[in-house]
Amino acid sequence: MPVAEEIKVTLKDYKSDQKSTWCPGCGDFGILSSIQMALVSLNIPPHMAMIVSGIGCGSKLPDYMNINGYLTLHGRAIPALTGIHLANHKLVAIAVTGDGDGYGIGGNHFMHAMRRNLNITHIVENNQIYGLTKGQYSPTTDKGMITSTSPEGAIEYAVNPITWALAAGATFIARGFSGEPKKLSEIIQAAIQHKGYALIDILQPCVTYNKLNTSDWYKERIYYVSDDPNYDKQNLEKAFATGLQWEQKIPCGIIYQVQRETYEDSLFQIKDKPLVDQVKNPSKEDFEKIKSRYY
Ligand code: SF4
Repeated sequence: MPVAEEIKVTLKDYKSDQKSTWCPGCGDFGILSSIQMALVSLNIPPHMAMIVSGIGCGSKLPDYMNINGYLTLHGRAIPALTGIHLANHKLVAIAVTGDGDGYGIGGNHFMHAMRRNLNITHIVENNQIYGLTKGQYSPTTDKGMITSTSPEGAIEYAVNPITWALAAGATFIARGFSGEPKKLSEIIQAAIQHKGYALIDILQPCVTYNKLNTSDWYKERIYYVSDDPNYDKQNLEKAFATGLQWEQKIPCGIIYQVQRETYEDSLFQIKDKPLVDQVKNPSKEDFEKIKSRYY
């Protein structure tokens, strides 16, 4: 993980001069400050981190930070970040998506990034609705919720990101809450330090379009698995049982974490050196030298 050795990174380094267009009270503000706090706590300078987002309210986030950022197509944050990461895996790689963006349109990419175990952090701003496009129900909208596209109540069951990620082979699975930025920042730090794919599903109120899952609704239900000193985050069976909890009790914190070889570690071409540091436009002689390292 790239750490600034001689300078002390501060919050000021991550401030952007862009004015936010988020609604006052939106949970995205808490997520933004938690990401900034995490990067500062880890002393990662802005030029050594990359955030890729898709489309949605929360996907404007890279604009509101002084950082390498790329706003790509709806649902395509993971493949875009995969390409960037494989070209230069020295950068701290973070994808920021919404629930519709990450679990709906980008669901296929989400699933395959987990089984590949790419060394990236995937932050999902889960407000259980499509906010930017004015309140349609999303993959995580609770069954029965009235939205602009479900006037009689959503008839589909919501996806469960935690059990989905467990089944797909993610090596770090956590849930956070935008209303508790300090705790969220600690989870983000752990995710960045984890070697492998790290999912953080972040519960985030959309004050404009989701009148059901409000800040108070979350606060009444959430608890942290780390409050139980006997909670074993390597226990897959326990993680599934914990991940299934919803409605009455909602688990937060690091629900599951194990170590497994990463995708990039199993690629001999970049195992020792990022692609970006390898010889550019090699001569015939250079090419033979590179070839001899592998064959
Ligand atoms: Fe946030 Fe919802 Fe407003 Fe979008 S519509 S900025 S998610 S409160």
